[in-house]
Amino acid sequence: MGIYSEDTATYLWRNGALVPWEEATVHVNAVGHASVAGIFEGLKAYWNADDGQLYLFRMREHYRRFLQSIKMTRFAFDYTLEDLEEATRALMKANAFRRDVYVRPYIFQAGMVRELLQSQPGKPVELVIDSWPFEAYRDPSQALHVCTSSWTRIADNVMPPRLKCFSNYHNGRLAAMEATVSGYDWPVLLDAQGKVTEGPGACLALVRDGAVITPPGTASILESITRDTVGYLVREVLGLPYVERPVDRTELYLADELFFMGTGWEIMPVASVDRLMVGDGAPGSVTDAIREAYAALVRGHDLRRPEWRAAVW
Ligand code: PMP
Repeated sequence: MGIYSEDTATYLWRNGALVPWEEATVHVNAVGHASVAGIFEGLKAYWNADDGQLYLFRMREHYRRFLQSIKMTRFAFDYTLEDLEEATRALMKANAFRRDVYVRPYIFQAGMVRELLQSQPGKPVELVIDSWPFEAYRDPSQALHVCTSSWTRIADNVMPPRLKCFSNYHNGRLAAMEATVSGYDWPVLLDAQGKVTEGPGACLALVRDGAVITPPGTASILESITRDTVGYLVREVLGLPYVERPVDRTELYLADELFFMGTGWEIMPVASVDRLMVGDGAPGSVTDAIREAYAALVRGHDLRRPEWRAAVW
């Protein structure tokens, strides 16, 4: 196994076939290895023991976003939404997962690194769908201590955050490393005007006077599918106001509750911002209610929105 973790999948899916995980190598000179324009997605499948079923949560929306990103990066790509969904189901079956799984589809330009110098549209790509067992990043009772980052969030006219491109993640990585070395758990990035955007890998919402407030889709954020799910849960399940509007940095300091939301982070409460406590520092009741409603929905314990759970078996 060498450099590889013991806890890997048996197969990944690559360019039309299932390939043993250890054989799915990329030459170090392949352009994808150092590519600027690779596109990826991240979705989760949840195991429901009662149903004996694995549910891919909002797979269609994730692949729709994937295709949108590929369109904007002008690659040649022949797979349809249905092809991608079918390939993902086949991969889940081949790996025989009976537990929660993270699925990571991605494309990168085919060929060697010197071809990167030719940035014409319509270049062929390799498509990979990887997956691995995944529970949670962190125990949600351990609310995060966050800082506002000194790094500015990338913007639509620079590196569009709406486009889920590998290179974009260097921005969040810089902010995350700065937060870590400064003794915080995670950063919040502001835009060039000082408005709140998101965290690396997750969107952000605050609760103030009983309303859930989050920056709009034009606030240099990824169009998060979890954020959309949270909007549904807040309005339809909890019956609370859900507002998308620009958010100032100081509103983070005055929020009653604050939480990150994303496929990987799920619903993760925030305890403090720049060492100012959010509420009493413990996860708030609205955040807890959203987190529980989300957990029930993704796993199919809450039967609403069945179209959001694609059964594998
Ligand atoms: N923002 C960024 C930068 C992300 O990488 C992610 C994770 N995909 C999110 C937000 C949350 O998006 P989603 O809810 O679709 O996972």
